[in-house]
This record gives sequence, C-alpha cells and structure tokens, in this order.
Amino acid sequence: MNVEDLGEPLIICEMCESAEIRYVHYMENARYHGILACGAICAGHMESDLVRAETRDKKMRSDASRRKRFPSRAGWKINEKGNHILKANGYRITVFRKGILWGAVVSRPPADKGFFTREKFSTIETAKMAAFDTMRFVEDNVPKPTPFRPF
Ligand SMILES: [Zn+2]
Repeated sequence: MNVEDLGEPLIICEMCESAEIRYVHYMENARYHGILACGAICAGHMESDLVRAETRDKKMRSDASRRKRFPSRAGWKINEKGNHILKANGYRITVFRKGILWGAVVSRPPADKGFFTREKFSTIETAKMAAFDTMRFVEDNVPKPTPFRPF
C-alpha cells in the first residue's frame, strides 16, 4: 500500500511482533484485518515475493539522504489555505494541517487521484518526508495514466 522511512527504528513489525523496524512496508492482505506495518522480510512473505520486498527496502535505504533534504529543497510554496505545496517531477504534493498534526497527499496531474501518507505527523518536516516516500511509492507501483490522444 505504501512505504515509509521512520528515520530510525521506531516501531515493532506488526506481522512478527518482534523485529524493530525503520523502513516500513504498509501491507494489506486478505488473511489479515486492516493494514499492517511490516519490515522487509515479513512484507516479502505477505506478498509471496521476497525479492520485490527487498528491492523496495533497498530503494528506501538509498533514498535516505535525498529524503532528509526534501523538506528544505527549493520549490515549496505556501498557498492561501496555509498548505505547503510542491510541484516537482510531474507530481503535486500538498502538505496540510489536520488539527494539531500534518498530513500530505501526492497526486500526479492530470490524474486527480490522491495518495495520502499513512499517518499524520507532529511536524511539517516529517510530513514532507512521508510525502517523499509516498511519491516514490507511486512512482514505482502506480501505472502512469495513458496520455489523451484525440482521434
Ligand atoms: Zn516482521
């Protein structure tokens, strides 16, 4: 469903309930209720494809420094609603306030389907970094809409 780099091992894998994980794979599986936050190995078991899960995990690791700089990169603008907006690489990212927390949604215009970060965050920086993870996930897992071709 999504991935997230927590920056450090912060949670316990909800599948095996023993591995401490930093790189989270959010998995949905008919055998389990709801969405589970898993480490790479458990994610691989859940999707019956260890190589795919490990590839996704490696990518998160190699993206770690780009991700860290993402909240302070050039191009972020604040709109009239107070949302932080970034348009880059064909994506539109909107970081919005929800109560005292921040969330983000990533879309790829002209498709208006938005992909939300799994969680809400106490700082705008962490919300922006989660948006980065979501953007990379969409890039790798969601097919690009076919361009409109007039007859
Ligand atoms: Zn596990």
